[in-house]
Amino acid sequence: MTPLLEARGIERRFDIPPALLDRLRGRPGRAVRAVSGVDLTLARGDTLGLIGESGCGKSTLGRLLLRLHAPTGGQVVFDGQDITRLPEAALRPLRRRMQIIFQDPYASLNPRRTVREILALPLALHEGLKGAAAEARILVMMERVGLARQHLDRYPHQFSGGQRQRIGIARALILKPDFVVCDEPVSALDVSVQAQVLALLRELRDELGLTMLFISHDLAVVAHLAGRIAVMYLGRVVEEGTRDAVINHPAHPYTRALLAAVPRIGAPGERRARAPAGDLPSPLAPPPGCAFHPRCPLAGPRCSREVPHLLDLTGAHRAACHLHDGGVA
Ligand code: SF4
Repeated sequence: MTPLLEARGIERRFDIPPALLDRLRGRPGRAVRAVSGVDLTLARGDTLGLIGESGCGKSTLGRLLLRLHAPTGGQVVFDGQDITRLPEAALRPLRRRMQIIFQDPYASLNPRRTVREILALPLALHEGLKGAAAEARILVMMERVGLARQHLDRYPHQFSGGQRQRIGIARALILKPDFVVCDEPVSALDVSVQAQVLALLRELRDELGLTMLFISHDLAVVAHLAGRIAVMYLGRVVEEGTRDAVINHPAHPYTRALLAAVPRIGAPGERRARAPAGDLPSPLAPPPGCAFHPRCPLAGPRCSREVPHLLDLTGAHRAACHLHDGGVA
């Protein structure tokens, strides 16, 4: 079966403004590689969890797959169609089928619109639906996300964080999309509310047959929903596999460090015991060779010289580490 979505060697560079370069004493024309040569495949109905520390490029990757950012290299194929360089007018009919749920629902909801207006807008824009027909769809969606009819005439600031995220979910799903990017959808919520929103997302995914990219910095949250997990470090995917393979048989030292920082998988929101040692290096000056080598307890001389490439370990598990490709000496 054709995958719903494929990324082939996808890349995104951002040019650094000259004023910033001066301050950084960088070379003119230097660019940041936010995403470097990522290959991903999402079959219909799959949920792929994308995990990594803040600043590793995972949100940029999500936006590249939705074509909210234009890739500077590689290809994005949606439902068999190459959308990498489609102009906005040609993308418009596909926008209904590809939606995003943001981390901060408050920032992403127009404070001057009521919930009714927020939900009516995509219906009018993408389906030309108005009046009673639109109202009926809005009411069904409201009920589905656990909000009441009397909430329709309220404004975003009149809701709690969890309710606002339910509005964000309703807005993304009211068009019955095929593919949804959930970009840290619970990280701005209280721990007590996170599990409810995750359970709602799981129910809706199963009910609507959604294909999902679920982005989070929290492996416990990702493990709650994803059938497959990709681990990202400084713009590259360093490990990818089934949930079982990545969680129970991690092959990359970075994944092991992330796992060590999660007290208990299946308990979303619990505080980290300890993060991987050291800080994520600046993407302006990525370390040579394996970008993880300054923080890696198993690094050897080869690691600072050669970039490791993703290798198949088994059919459903890949990792980019010299330990699996001849050693680090
Ligand atoms: Fe560590 Fe070397 Fe593997 Fe990179 S390639 S993760 S530095 S052992």
